[in-house]
Amino acid sequence: IMNCTFSLDKGHFITGEAMDKIKVENLTFSYDKEINAVENVSFSIEEGSYTTIIGHNGSGKSTIAKLLIGLLEKDQGSIYVDDVELTMESLYEIRDKVGIVFQNPDNQFIGATVSDDIAFGLENHQVETSKMQGIIEKFAEKVKMTDYLLSEPTKLSGGQKQRVAIAGVLAMSPEILIFDESTSMLDPQGKAEINALIQEIHKESKITIISITHDIEEVSHSDHVIVMDGGHVVMDGKPDDILRKEDDLIRLRLDIPFALKFTKALRTNGIDIKDCTTLEKVVEEVCQLHLRK
Ligand code: ADP
Ligand code: MG
Repeated sequence: IMNCTFSLDKGHFITGEAMDKIKVENLTFSYDKEINAVENVSFSIEEGSYTTIIGHNGSGKSTIAKLLIGLLEKDQGSIYVDDVELTMESLYEIRDKVGIVFQNPDNQFIGATVSDDIAFGLENHQVETSKMQGIIEKFAEKVKMTDYLLSEPTKLSGGQKQRVAIAGVLAMSPEILIFDESTSMLDPQGKAEINALIQEIHKESKITIISITHDIEEVSHSDHVIVMDGGHVVMDGKPDDILRKEDDLIRLRLDIPFALKFTKALRTNGIDIKDCTTLEKVVEEVCQLHLRK
């Protein structure tokens, strides 16, 4: 048995645990140099994972996103991307790996047409003109906006605008994609479309995804969740474990998933069902219960 454990450990050592794409250590930042917006924050994000960051307004989520892309300069601590520390020297190398989609779809348009918008980043990246059209078409298709390539971005719905913004960042082949409340200004349909698109990107690519969100249903479908409060990381783990800590979430003024409310309500009414954090799991549990009858 000892031998076995030994070789397993060794195997782990050789193949390595899943790699950290991002590592943040004791990060502190203050806008006014009096109150820290982010204080002593540490976390790791696994390569290819889908991480959600949740927390009440003002808890420091956007500040972290801006620190990660070097829009703000940390006061203390370190940020590593692929084990390279973010410094003045590595800033552009790291920024090339990261795409970000913000909250307000109207703030990210500059072009006269959807096509111009998708092309904007490519022009900045000195992509050959002959290759551009193909790239634009590929990513317009990916976000289902092919029919709108010549439309004026201002005339699109919020959800369509965010899809164009996503096509624009995807066109730059990022390794990390950050969404900062990118669905918060959308109607339910727009929200659902963007969430589905994020899921699809996660499934089909190796892109590491970080989504800052208030949408607890999105959290339950992610791989990893980081909970922020008052500039601190207060919880960090698997959504299934964290979403069950109902009392903590309520104290942090956060919601719990509908599926969990539903399974709790069923139990209160005498139905012997386990807590579920997603509707898919509720269906599975209900089928099990039905089979047991
Ligand atoms: P969140 O994205 O979680 O809502 P933020 O990171 O935007 O939170 O903000 C964290 C704290 O920093 C808040 O107290 C906020 O008021 C403050 N803050 C954010 N942006 C600025 C800014 N540009 N100047 C000064 N203070 C700011
Ligand atoms: Mg924010």
